[in-house]
Amino acid sequence: MGFLSEIISIISGFIDDSYYSSSERWFDNIWRKLNRPYMAEGILELRDGKLYKKFLVTFHDGSNIVVVEDNDEGYKLRHVRLSSDHKRQILQEGYLTIKQYNNMENFFDYIDDNLTSNWLENFHNAWGDSLSDEMVLQSVKEASDFFNMNAPMNVHEDWTTGVITGMSFTENDDILVFNREQMQSMGITDKEGFDLVMTHEGAHRALQGLNTGFDSHQEELCCDYMAGVRAGLNGMDEGKLSASLSDAEESQTHPDGAARVKAIEDGVSFAHEYMESHNGTPPAFSDCLEHFENLYASRKRY
Ligand SMILES: [Zn+2]
Repeated sequence: MGFLSEIISIISGFIDDSYYSSSERWFDNIWRKLNRPYMAEGILELRDGKLYKKFLVTFHDGSNIVVVEDNDEGYKLRHVRLSSDHKRQILQEGYLTIKQYNNMENFFDYIDDNLTSNWLENFHNAWGDSLSDEMVLQSVKEASDFFNMNAPMNVHEDWTTGVITGMSFTENDDILVFNREQMQSMGITDKEGFDLVMTHEGAHRALQGLNTGFDSHQEELCCDYMAGVRAGLNGMDEGKLSASLSDAEESQTHPDGAARVKAIEDGVSFAHEYMESHNGTPPAFSDCLEHFENLYASRKRY
């Protein structure tokens, strides 16, 4: 995917402007971190006389995301050196495309899946929808429903993503925090990817007070496994969650990325196998937990 984007960056590099080139670097960075993107467009959008960055991405399956920088202070249009053509375009359209990306490896997949959809139009309609507050709350609610729990007492944006479970006998006092920047840097930029992260956090909530005897690595793997189960039951794509974890290094609290990806895949397989052998009936939480314990925790029991 590097070739085309390099040509473009050389061409636009002639325009000597720091906001312009820092925007390009920001777009490049996101593009490199994405999992199987098909194409993307880095634009500067005009609002109140200032330009702001927006990165519009289409994945090979046709899904779209819009990435914005949380602390983007924008740049005054009159301070940006632009050609008269560009200036005219930005005043007429309200935005200027400064960089386009294309991943030819996924071109034919994409054409097969999306022959009729106009990706650019989809984008411009979908602006601002990337992990909106409503989407986050909806995602948390759906993950709670998956475990038949009430939603957490409090959900708010904070410095990291995780759950504070509080009293061990009730989920009603749980506090869930999330961090959009962290999610974006992990490649979790759409609702489906976020849903599976929230399923991992929901599993921590569902496990509280159960006396599983898990150590912290086993508990993390169990939560990854439950996210895999949900993906398997609902035909969700676990690829983004797996990709976001695959390079993670082992720590005191968390196992390494490869083990975590394996746990997700074990969850997906269990969901499929269970449904197949039970006429399409999904497993209960206790069925999943039992299967996980047989796979991962049997050493502890003997
Ligand atoms: Zn965790």
